[in-house]
Amino acid sequence: MLEEIARENFSVKMRASQGGVLGQGGKHISGAERIVSGADLEQQVLSMLERAQTHQKGEADFINIKVELVKPEMVQYCPLLPLAEHAVATVTEGRQAALAELVQTSVSEAAARCGIEAISKLATSMRGAMLLDSLSGERLDALGQRGVRVTKMDVADAARFQRSLAAAHLYGDHVREALVLASKVASAPGIVAELCWSDDPDYVTGYVGSAARGYRRIPVLKEKGDEIGGRVFFVQPGADLPRLIHYLQEQVILVQTGEQIDVTTTH
Ligand code: AMP
Repeated sequence: MLEEIARENFSVKMRASQGGVLGQGGKHISGAERIVSGADLEQQVLSMLERAQTHQKGEADFINIKVELVKPEMVQYCPLLPLAEHAVATVTEGRQAALAELVQTSVSEAAARCGIEAISKLATSMRGAMLLDSLSGERLDALGQRGVRVTKMDVADAARFQRSLAAAHLYGDHVREALVLASKVASAPGIVAELCWSDDPDYVTGYVGSAARGYRRIPVLKEKGDEIGGRVFFVQPGADLPRLIHYLQEQVILVQTGEQIDVTTTH
């Protein structure tokens, strides 16, 4: 019986807000997505609860933790994106690098500028991502401040991933979670590229992710202290949006990682 429980996996989602439920006056504080074994479930739920309660963006007064059984036949796999880092020192250089990266993934320059502006002009951070047409830059989803929330993903081998991140001197939740999310997003049908920077005021690093060029880490994409961050997913013109949104929100994905993460630097 115990063995059977240990073989089962669960999707665990956490979202926390302050001042009420998000979308009903509440402010987004934090969120997290994991796929964990039955044996690790209790500990993971507790650590997510602690994370929601101790986030530097403020004290959460609404915390939602959702646990769902994942059957083996529901799981698909995708590869971890290769990682490269841009050598930039200022926000201006960082956004220039993001623009150049996006254009190289075949996002139009106009759409890339729309994406950067869409995040920087947010009055408050969203819980999810905006979908923009990769040619026109027009917003495609009708999900307002909620956006599209990518869930139900993790790495296939958490211990191996942790070892390879440490060996590459990549520490903390941000990069671990962003690499997993970016790998799922890049594998989605109709996605050209992703642009992200964090809403965590102390974390100024962001990235451009794509199947074509991998995960391009950009050390500075906003000023320290800025509480606004966000994600834009650039979508091929004419893509099947309901199929794409279903994949991002519902398809269970485990990211397959190797023993080693090589980080190359781009100037
Ligand atoms: P973070 O990197 O967690 O600071 O998140 C930065 C921004 O990305 C958030 O403000 C959200 O707009 C967006 N975001 C965070 N998590 C997700 C997710 N799972 N799916 C889609 N967008 C997300």
